[in-house]
This record gives sequence, C-alpha cells and structure tokens, in this order.
Amino acid sequence: MTKKTSKPSRELIFGDLWEFDPAPETADPKLKKRYDLFINGKFVAPKSGRYFDSINPGNETKLVEIAQAGAEDVDTAYRAAKRAFDTVWSPMPGHERGKYLFRIARLLQDRAREFAVAETLDGGKPIKESRDFDVPMAAAHFFYHAGWADKMAYVAPGRTVKPHGVVGQVIPWNFPLLMLAWKIAPALAMGNCVVIKPAETTSITALKFGEILQEAGLPPGVVNIVSGAGETGAAVMNHPIASKVAFTGSTEVGKIIMRSLAGTDQKMTMELGGKAANIIFEDAPLDQAVEGIVNGIFFNQGHVCCAGSRLLVQESVAESVLSKLKRRIAVLRVGDPMDKNTDLGAINSREQLERITKLVASGVKEGAEMHQSACKLPVKGFYFRPTVFSKVSMSHRIAREEIFGPVLSVLTFRTVDEAIEKANNTAYGLSAGVWTDKGSRILKMSAELKAGVVWANTYNKFDPTSPFGGYKESGFGREGGRQGLLDYCKLA
Ligand code: NAD
Repeated sequence: MTKKTSKPSRELIFGDLWEFDPAPETADPKLKKRYDLFINGKFVAPKSGRYFDSINPGNETKLVEIAQAGAEDVDTAYRAAKRAFDTVWSPMPGHERGKYLFRIARLLQDRAREFAVAETLDGGKPIKESRDFDVPMAAAHFFYHAGWADKMAYVAPGRTVKPHGVVGQVIPWNFPLLMLAWKIAPALAMGNCVVIKPAETTSITALKFGEILQEAGLPPGVVNIVSGAGETGAAVMNHPIASKVAFTGSTEVGKIIMRSLAGTDQKMTMELGGKAANIIFEDAPLDQAVEGIVNGIFFNQGHVCCAGSRLLVQESVAESVLSKLKRRIAVLRVGDPMDKNTDLGAINSREQLERITKLVASGVKEGAEMHQSACKLPVKGFYFRPTVFSKVSMSHRIAREEIFGPVLSVLTFRTVDEAIEKANNTAYGLSAGVWTDKGSRILKMSAELKAGVVWANTYNKFDPTSPFGGYKESGFGREGGRQGLLDYCKLA
C-alpha cells in the first residue's frame, strides 16, 4: 500500500486516502484456443463447423473460440442423453450416482483457482468473487446434492419418486458456473440426464466443466453441453426428447419459451428477472445496513437477479442513509477484474453496458437525482460507475425495470404498510431485504412481501440447502434444498 500525499481535498472528504498497489491474480486458467461441444462424453466439433469468439469484457480482447451448436448437434446431444438415461444412469443405484457427484465436487475444488480465473476473464466479475463465491458455491451444490442421490424416497416421503428422463436446461451469463451447478447437480442426483446450454458470452467454464466430467469418469451422455446463442437455446427448450425444461434468464425470453411450449404437457421451471426492494427502517443499524445495501446492488456489478436494486428507506433516516451511501460508493474500487482488490469488475458485454447507460439516462431525464462515484475507469473494457439515484418515484423506469447493473434507486416511505405496498408494487417477486431491530416486524414483513426470498438484516446470502425462486414475473419452481429436488422428479 502506498500512502498518497498529493490532492488532499477529495480524498479527505471521501476517505480515499490509500491507493492499493496492483495485485493481479496469476493462476493459469489453462484455456484452449478453441472449445468444442461436449456430447456423449467427448469434445466434438459442431456439424456446421461454426465458431464464435468469446471476448474478455475487462479489456475487449478475444479469449477463445466457442463452438456454435445447431439443431442437429442439439439432437445428437439429446439422443446421447436418452441412451445414457435408459441404459446407465437411471438403472444405477443412488449411492453409485452419488459417488460421481462427490467426485465432481472434489475435482472442482482441486481446480478451483483455474476455474475462478477462467470465470473472471470470460465474465468480467472480480476475481475475489469468482474465487470466494462462485466456484466454492458451485462445488458446495455438488456436495449437497451428492448426499441426496441415495435418499430419493425422502424427497417426498410416502410417495414414489422417479426421475423425469432427459432434462433440457438453458442458463444466463451472470453466474455461469454456479448456475450450471444449480441446474446439473439436482438433475443428476434425482437420476435425470442433461442437455445444457450456457450463455453465449460466458461458455468457457461450462465447457471446461466437460473436462471435469471426463476426469470424474461420468458415463458418456449423462451430461451434454451445447454452446451457442438464442437459436441453440430454443432448440434445447423445444426438443421432443426433453421430459422437462429448466430455464434461467430474462423474463422476456422466459415468456418466449413458455409461449412456444404452451399446449404441451412439458414440465418446466423458470427462474427469471427481479427488481428487489431492500427496506431500511429507522431503527436499523444504519452502517451495517449500508454495507448490506452496497453488497446487495454492487456485488457482481449488479448482474444479480436478486440484486437489491430499489432501496426503500424510512423518511426520518433517508438523508443520513443517502449521505453514507454516497461516501461508500466513492471508495468502491472499480477496474481490472483480475485484481484481488477490485470491488466492481467489468460489465459482461457491450450490449449490457449500453442497456445500463440507456436506463440511467432515462432516470436523469425523468427527474431523479444521480450520484456517481468519481472513480477513474480503465480505457479499454466495459465499465460503469457505481450509481445511486435519489428523488425516485415509482413511475420512473429505473424504479420499475430490471437494470442488471450497478445502479440503485432510492425511494422513501413513512409507515410499514407503505413500505410493503411499494415493495410489492412491481411485476417481479424474487427477493427482498428488511433492515430493522424488531423481530416482530421482520416476521410481518416476510409474511407480506411477495418475494421468494426475504433476507433480514443481511443480503445476498446463499446456501445449497435453501430453496431459491420467484413469484409473479420472476418465474416459478425452486432451486436448492429439498424443494428444488421436487422439480427434478416425478411423484406417484
Ligand atoms: P437472457 O434471457 O437474454 O438469456 C438467458 C439464456 O437464454 C442465454 O443462454 C441465451 O442464449 C438464451 N436464450 C436467448 N434467447 C432464447 C430463446 N429464444 N430460447 C431459448 N433460449 C434463449 O438473459 P441474460 O441476459 O443472459 O441473463 C440475465 C437475466 O437472467 C436477468 O433478467 C436475470 O434476472 C435473470 N436471472 C435470473 C435468475 C434467477 O434465479 N431467477 C438467476 C440469474 C439470472
């Protein structure tokens, strides 16, 4: 650390007294130049021979080439999965299946740093998040579900529990490896086989995961990974062999998928967008709450479905909370995602950066007051300053639409009922946060907030044992815990 002596004024006001020396992560991500599809236990070239580039959003350089799966490749993947389901995976005793899941979890731990670096290079999230959250959590999901593989009867006691068959899954770019784990681990534990498609901007760790499956000796065809964009996703969601589909992504695409499957008896789960309210009452420990709010919206650049993107703060403490927030965002470190001190890394893609920029401009145009950190941004790469809006009203686009970026809209309330009404006044219902000293108020709020998860005096806490999922346009179905397993089996 180097103490800064020049430029005293802004530093003294905002506490930006210390500048950290660069501390880049150096582990080798062991990237190949080109990643093929993972079908029937092998890496195979796409039938069309087409590949697309995966870009490092931190500096806009090309990282690798990714195979683009067409309908024929998706069909081959489904046939391999069906064969594996009929001949190997579904007849296999649960305790044997569990051993594979344990092995996958341990191999992920063995290669944790390599996967964390690959995730950060490909997705732009700070290395401290991929290293301390994404990869360990992905391994934890495999460990947890490994324990369920021989306990299927206990998922729904008194009922007969059977796998669906082959499950088609499509995931987004915000937690590439973790979303893959949320999807694959429960499916395999319940005896299903899988065809999964990662998001087009973040396919590297999913395809590297194919290497882990080979190392674990998973029987060919049990998991198939097909990369590509929306068309590939549509082929995965609409294939006739799929006995169930699971989608995580935007509400807009979720609706397209639901429309395309309307009239069929396809089982589906949808994990969609969010516009969560983080609610601070005047009796809350304000400094702690401000830390929770910062974590709730600026974690992973706000690329979080359950991000606390609306702050509802009780009027009597609104001014104090806003000034604490402004001070806090001024010292958040934005920059190189590979630096271990970075708090906010890169926005995942140019398109997402444009979307955030447009929505922020709408906030200014509609009359909200914008407060942005004055930090320097790297010249290359996709970056956005931590942004807080005050004087926001419920009719503003920034209060209603999912921005999926580091942008917080602050609204105020006077009474408990007004807080509940404002928090629930959204098309979404994925998560919420309540900050108060009173236990009874926490219980009342969690009963009345229409959100799948309500955190109290904390935010963004996850555990494989705890179900996660939404209300209203945030989707249906749960991931994690015993409830998550119910979506991956047939009950008789
Ligand atoms: P997106 O909907 O644009 O894309 C998600 C995935 O769907 C990608 O793999 C994409 O290639 C694929 N896709 C696109 N068009 C498709 C189509 N017509 N048919 C099938 N697949 C198609 O979402 P995104 O921008 O990648 O991710 C951000 C969104 O994901 C946000 O809205 C966020 O809230 C949501 N999300 C929700 C959860 C949750 O658990 N509820 C978790 C993470 C992200």
